[in-house]
Amino acid sequence: CRTQTAAWSSPANAGTGSCGTAGGAPVPTEANTQGSRDPTGPSAENDNRSQAPRLPKAGETIHGHKFFIGFGGKGANQCIQAARLGAKTAMVCKVGKDFFGDNYIQNFKDNSVYTGFVEQASNAATGAASIIVNDAGENAIVIVAGANMLLCSEDLQKALPAIKRTKVLVCQLEISPQMSLMALRMAKENNVKTIFNPAPAFPDIDPDFFKVSDVFCCNETEAELLTGSSVTNVEEAHGAAQELLKRGCTSVVITLGPQGCVVHQAQQSAPKHVPTAAVPAVDTTGAGDSFIGALAFYMTHYPTLPLEEMAQRANQVAAVSVQAIGTQTSFPFKQDLPAALF
Ligand code: ATP
Repeated sequence: CRTQTAAWSSPANAGTGSCGTAGGAPVPTEANTQGSRDPTGPSAENDNRSQAPRLPKAGETIHGHKFFIGFGGKGANQCIQAARLGAKTAMVCKVGKDFFGDNYIQNFKDNSVYTGFVEQASNAATGAASIIVNDAGENAIVIVAGANMLLCSEDLQKALPAIKRTKVLVCQLEISPQMSLMALRMAKENNVKTIFNPAPAFPDIDPDFFKVSDVFCCNETEAELLTGSSVTNVEEAHGAAQELLKRGCTSVVITLGPQGCVVHQAQQSAPKHVPTAAVPAVDTTGAGDSFIGALAFYMTHYPTLPLEEMAQRANQVAAVSVQAIGTQTSFPFKQDLPAALF
């Protein structure tokens, strides 16, 4: 079957999709210009990463060992993971009219993501993250949202015909929260399934985000911030899932790193833990985005599967991503995965 996913993402340092800024906008999957897509939330950014023996002090210049530029942004990452599994995807986001913006658009094309809703702003740079990592693995990061924050309601209106045709829309908070909320409302009004990833989280998000989320998917830190309670193990995640579900979403997924995730649905009496197999993890950056991109793919292509089964398969996709270095560079393609996942 063909699915379409759309992500509103904004590129800030290359990477995820979001609405308005770099790194996370709605990304529709399995969409083409004529057909329907599943949108995911927008944001895209360029990650400029330097590795050095230590972090420099203010005013200091030091030599590093290695430098590389990667694509990032939650929306873009999620969109690209869904596309690599075979979903038709579109990204709704803004990048700058600059080298990084051109490069990011090419990256979407290279990953078969529809870019008709990726605008290039002339008054802001493509979102970017400058990351320095020392030999102890500690980092210092500056993120500039740039063009991501310029995604506006007119951009969403332009994408509305595609959103109407999509199967799943994914949004995050790397663009203006109002734009993410507007995109999610558009989806709900048109019977499009929604995944909302409240990342980066802040405690007082608009309560309407819950009402427009078919799947409210966050990690432990975000769950903790939103509920005000500690979320460090499966039991505490069960409590947080119950608390978040009460706020009005249809289902909650809380990812728990090597412990898999917890799934809770309105029609269930209790949350369920969906464990994952132990793997030799080398770099977990972007694991959450790989999981959400995979979830969007399953909701699009296998909509009748139970949510726990989708989460179990998304665990397996994300587990592959943690076994290689980088963010998008570590995300698996359909052909890298066992046939049983499709
Ligand atoms: P990030 O911010 O690094 O993108 P996250 O904190 O949003 O990640 P996690 O909860 O760490 O998300 O991980 C998301 C999913 O990735 C988990 O639910 C799990 O399926 C998989 N995963 C993460 N870490 C591991 C690991 N060490 N081993 C196996 N699977 C993992």
